[in-house]
Amino acid sequence: MPAAIADVLKRMIDGGGRVCVLTGAGMSAESGIPTFRGTHDSLWSRFDPMRLATAEAWREDPALVWGWYRWRMQLVRDAQPNAGHKALAELARRVPLSLVTQNVDDLHERAGSTVDAHVHGSLFALRCFACGQAHDGPLDDYVEGQQKVAPMRCTACGDAIRPGVVWFGEALPDDAWSAAVDAAERCMLVLVVGTSGLVYPAAGLPALARRHGATVVEINPEPTALSADADHVWRSTAAQALPQLLAI
Ligand code: NAD
Ligand code: ZN
Repeated sequence: MPAAIADVLKRMIDGGGRVCVLTGAGMSAESGIPTFRGTHDSLWSRFDPMRLATAEAWREDPALVWGWYRWRMQLVRDAQPNAGHKALAELARRVPLSLVTQNVDDLHERAGSTVDAHVHGSLFALRCFACGQAHDGPLDDYVEGQQKVAPMRCTACGDAIRPGVVWFGEALPDDAWSAAVDAAERCMLVLVVGTSGLVYPAAGLPALARRHGATVVEINPEPTALSADADHVWRSTAAQALPQLLAI
């Protein structure tokens, strides 16, 4: 761990300050969940995720979009939290910590964390596209290699069941966003883990925290749009870096 980051952490822990952790797709990369801008399974390699994650795409071809999400849900179901997820759950037992994620998977929860805000929703929080009613029934069966899958139907109105994620062009859930802003404004230290910092408004949270006096540390193997505004950068992966925080 860079010495400057160890110093910041020590000071923060001694002073009883709150940590805010903002995670992105890179957090789950070492669990085998592909990032948006990384490589993709060959089944989906000719599709642009940005073109599948919109309401327009859904209206045009719901079976194509549901097939893609159904595949992603299966990846998440088959994946396990990595050492980074587990380290964050442990860190939250030692210091006051708010966890804000852009991830739609449930790997933080399965590692034992309480997530304060899923700012981009959750894959498994299924609801009706038309009337919004939550779908509480079981998931449909997953057929390996099947690209188009007809969505399940709403028991209230018969429309199609969509994933509980925030698509491009959609507003963030109010409660999640206000919890995220609150976490950013109240913390002394922000750990920005595995996000490219390109998707707003989530990417604005570190700058917001900094304006409120927090120190920003980026953990990412690659430079990102947020690197220049971070106080410290740690070029490492989530599963390698985060467990080291527990040694402080
Ligand atoms: P992104 O794909 O734009 O960026 C991923 C970032 O992770 C990159 O900066 C990359 O350098 C970094 N990275 C790669 N491997 C890493 C590792 N092992 N440890 C740490 N960092 C690593 O993802 P984003 O910034 O989260 O934004 C895109 C949107 O994609 C998000 O809103 C999210 O909802 C969605 N998404 C979520 C998941 C998921 O839930 N697991 C997966 C793909 C995309
Ligand atoms: Zn409905």
